[in-house]
Amino acid sequence: MQRVRIKYTLDGCFHEGDCRKVCLVPHVLDTVIKGRAVNTEIPIGPDCTRCGLCVDTCPTGSLKFDIKGLSKLL
Ligand code: SF4
Repeated sequence: MQRVRIKYTLDGCFHEGDCRKVCLVPHVLDTVIKGRAVNTEIPIGPDCTRCGLCVDTCPTGSLKFDIKGLSKLL
C-alpha cells in the first residue's frame, strides 16, 4: 500500500493544465481537465511517481501530497 500520494482538489483549480505539462506520466492527471472530475477530492492514480513536480507547479494549491494515516498521528 502506498502511504504517500498526490491528491487533487477541484475547488480553486483553473484547469490551465500547467501540471500536465510538467508531469512525465500526464495521463494520471486527466482528472484535472475541465469537466472530468467526478468528485471534489480525487487521489491521483497508481502510475504517479510522486515526483512532486505538479505540486510545485500548481498555482492554486489544488495538487498536494497526501500522507495516509497522518491525521491519526496528529
Ligand atoms: S507527482 Fe509527478 S508523476 Fe505524479 S501527477 Fe504529479 S507530476 Fe505527475
